[in-house]
Amino acid sequence: MGEGGASAPPSACAGGFHVADVMTDLRRRLREVWNISRASAVLGWDELTYMPPGGAQDRGEQEATLDRLAHECFTSDETGKLLARARAAGIGRGEGDDDVIVRVTEREYERARALPPSLVEERSRLAVAGHEAWVKARRANDFAIFAPTLKKVVETQREVAHLRGPALDPYTALLTATLPGFTADEIERLFDDLKRRLVPLVGRITAHADRVDPAPSSLRVDDDRQWQASLAAMRAVGYDFGRGRLDRTIHPFETSFGTGDVRITTRVDEDQWEFALFSSLHEMGHGLYEQGLPARWQGTPAGESSSSAIHESQSRFFENVIGRSRPFWEFFWPTLREIFPPEFARFSLEEMYRAVNRCGPTLIRTEADEVTYNLHVILRFEIERGLLAGTMEVNDVPRVWRDRMTDLLGVAPEDDLTGPLQDVHWSGGSFASFPSYTLGNVISGQLRETVRAEIPDLDALIRRGAFAPITGWLRENIYDLGAAYETKELVRHVTGHDVEAGPYLAYLEEKFSDIYDL
Ligand code: ZN
Repeated sequence: MGEGGASAPPSACAGGFHVADVMTDLRRRLREVWNISRASAVLGWDELTYMPPGGAQDRGEQEATLDRLAHECFTSDETGKLLARARAAGIGRGEGDDDVIVRVTEREYERARALPPSLVEERSRLAVAGHEAWVKARRANDFAIFAPTLKKVVETQREVAHLRGPALDPYTALLTATLPGFTADEIERLFDDLKRRLVPLVGRITAHADRVDPAPSSLRVDDDRQWQASLAAMRAVGYDFGRGRLDRTIHPFETSFGTGDVRITTRVDEDQWEFALFSSLHEMGHGLYEQGLPARWQGTPAGESSSSAIHESQSRFFENVIGRSRPFWEFFWPTLREIFPPEFARFSLEEMYRAVNRCGPTLIRTEADEVTYNLHVILRFEIERGLLAGTMEVNDVPRVWRDRMTDLLGVAPEDDLTGPLQDVHWSGGSFASFPSYTLGNVISGQLRETVRAEIPDLDALIRRGAFAPITGWLRENIYDLGAAYETKELVRHVTGHDVEAGPYLAYLEEKFSDIYDL
């Protein structure tokens, strides 16, 4: 194969392939795409942690340039030709490293080329305008200011859906990018299973609210002690600080520049000490996954995580399944008592365990507990689906929001700020991404069941602070598989079952029946 021929568009990335080995050429090209996008991630991390406000405009342009270069390089005809050459050489059918790289790259290549560059650009312009309108609407606490933008977002998403799958239900077409392999009807059935058992569970918990004393949650803990507590918990579980950092931000997140440098962030609120500790554990779950991705595939799409749903299963596993379990508190409470202010000493282990698992209906999704959180996600899924299908109008969103919150959680917002203006997602043109959060919870329940079967003394290990067998199990069964399997296949491969709500619901019912004496 010669230099990029006359028909190939000009490309900023490596061209002129003379090497006989097609995999060397393909890997070199993919590595460049990866280098550019990870460099953009470094800029993004800095933007959200240490950049002074004056840097915003230049930084936005710098990131947009790098993202465009990475996208162009990856989706260029040249990449397609290399993939075709690899196939012609018989690579992509077996189970070797090269086969996996070719298969996963083909999959991502098709997905990335589904949208024309003009639509990608229009979408990012709309995201900037959408964000501005959303901020303005929030300031005025008035959904009507955001409505015209949301109408445009819905139109664009319909266009995107048509390009991704002209014959598919529009929501299913969008899921081909956010939750590949799932249909909207499947998600709906799964969510129906959840609703059927979660709505009554929340009702029973609310009736027994007095079983949990909220006093430990309302004690003030200074910044420094909270920081130490987050670090102590992360060190205990085994987060590798030689290959990662914890920093401060407004909205906690995780970002990775490679398995050797994975950054997570948290926010310390002195009046809400649980926030920093549990968001650190959450982001650490994301971070452990990134630190454990397979080095042999790094720099190619195969070396990435499987999906955002699997990613969220990892963060929820450490935040809730482990971090809010009784064995974890048996292990961690003595450490925390040494770090936290002396007035905490008056609480028993049991009081602390119950307080961090306090549960009840609230209006804001990001502040919701383990049980009610999923009902917030289901509400958003129902609205997104209705808007896309045209069975619901944008102007009806606030009313539908109030009605459905009342049905699902028994509480309703009195204004738009605590209603449909609370999430940033729609303003950025992001649709069909909410279901991944609840899928992550559901999968964390399935993983819990599998881990318990394969590590029978799990609780005793956690009680002793021996986390290596658990992180080792996750490394072997999830992290090390990179993106070789997509969500459904990975869950089946690891647990032997399809994605199903049963284990997660059983876990919640058992745990909260105990805590609330149901
Ligand atoms: Zn997360």
